[in-house]
Amino acid sequence: MLEIRAGIRFTRSRKHLPSTATHPPASVPLRSYIQHQEGSQNKQADFNSCKMNRSTELEFLDLHPFVRQTALDRVRGTIFGGALGDAIGLYTEFLSRDLCLAAYPEGKFQLVEPATELHNDGHRNKFVQTGWTDDTDHALLIMLSYLHSNGQSLDPSDLAHRLQFWCEQGLRCLDRPPLGLGRTVGRVVCDPSFREDAAATAHRHWKNSNYTAAPNGSLMRTYPLGVICLGKKLDETFQIATDFSRITHADPRCIVSCCLATVLIRGIVRSDVQNEKDIDALIESSLSWIQGYIIKQTHTQDAEEPSDNYPPFDSDEFYRHVRAETLEELQLDDALKMGYVYKSLGAGILLLRLALRRIDSQGFLENLFEELITSLVMQGGDADTNASVAGPLLGALFGFNMLPGKWKYGMMHAGWLFQKCNSLASVSGIYLPPSPYNGQADSDTGVEGGKPPLTKEELYQREREFVEQYFNKSQKRANENKTYTGWVGKLLGK
Ligand SMILES: [Mg+2]
Repeated sequence: MLEIRAGIRFTRSRKHLPSTATHPPASVPLRSYIQHQEGSQNKQADFNSCKMNRSTELEFLDLHPFVRQTALDRVRGTIFGGALGDAIGLYTEFLSRDLCLAAYPEGKFQLVEPATELHNDGHRNKFVQTGWTDDTDHALLIMLSYLHSNGQSLDPSDLAHRLQFWCEQGLRCLDRPPLGLGRTVGRVVCDPSFREDAAATAHRHWKNSNYTAAPNGSLMRTYPLGVICLGKKLDETFQIATDFSRITHADPRCIVSCCLATVLIRGIVRSDVQNEKDIDALIESSLSWIQGYIIKQTHTQDAEEPSDNYPPFDSDEFYRHVRAETLEELQLDDALKMGYVYKSLGAGILLLRLALRRIDSQGFLENLFEELITSLVMQGGDADTNASVAGPLLGALFGFNMLPGKWKYGMMHAGWLFQKCNSLASVSGIYLPPSPYNGQADSDTGVEGGKPPLTKEELYQREREFVEQYFNKSQKRANENKTYTGWVGKLLGK
């Protein structure tokens, strides 16, 4: 069977893996949580007793306990892959390749103590070291919305509501301010008509851009849908990915990118995607889907635009990016195009291809996630988003256990995220946790994160503290510049 074959291959690959016990005992919360939750459990019994499938599409999980265990590891790998890619990508976001090398000459990062210091500049000084950015926050909004309904509802309008709340308050359950918001999401979400009809609002903004705006803001958040749609058919998955993109990103290039990334993750977690032919088949399916979608949009009464105004879909442009053979040809640090959705998509698919080639050649897999994500972020450009797209694809393939300990054990909120992965796997019918999960009782999943919204005064106070912190970091940089002036300063990107 397909899934069992995947299991065998995975076992073979793991011969190369280090035990997680070899990692330094840093950032204890996640490690302790895992030991507490699973160390004393009879895992085999858990998986054997997990007969909770709601969909015939999930029957494959019952083929063997190992299949379900692998799927759970891949769900965790998907979500952690995205968050880790985001947190590592922040180190080089918006830098050119040359500046990446100047800022991080060793080209290595770690999140456990002593964590690699963020390059001190106007962008990174807004963020906290070892934390993720808006990319992961927005993906979490999809997860939390689904968890809140206990897996009963998947509603793009609830995501729209949560995005609007996030833009003002941030991710309240973790007290994270709304940092790093992209221009398109900001404009669309803050439009007064957004709450009433998000998709129509997004379409109007796209039209106002003369149909040119195709940024990566919906692609970066789509990956939890790949897990959520594990028990859905391919066409249903395409429709869901489309509906979740359209509320902010109407361009068919954004939609097809969300569709492709989502079905790839679904396929990897299901072990349906095992080689490059499988990737190419899903590329073709996604292309057919978007072409059908455009026809529907232009020939039905519900079409937002008459057909003569709807721009044709450029298949060559799509293929050029999803068939890229090197990161260099994607020119990720092109200052004028770095947020283009196909750049993030192309980079993610290329890294997935490279990982599958290494597995096929029985190559050395240890540290491959780290190696590939590092090579990606060292290209600069929109590095956090590029790695937020590639990370879930690689994380789904390798699974959580293979993710680098020096990253996953040091990432801020890692223990919390691990719990939410288990909750997601639980409501998705993959995993039976030691105690039953109830999303309604989990206050983190509410729109307001189980806390009263910040008042105007509290928001003002938060902003003041942020500015103060930002100023202190900038001051430190100014002092350093006095030390390094002239060509040395330029080389260091100061
Ligand atoms: Mg970001």
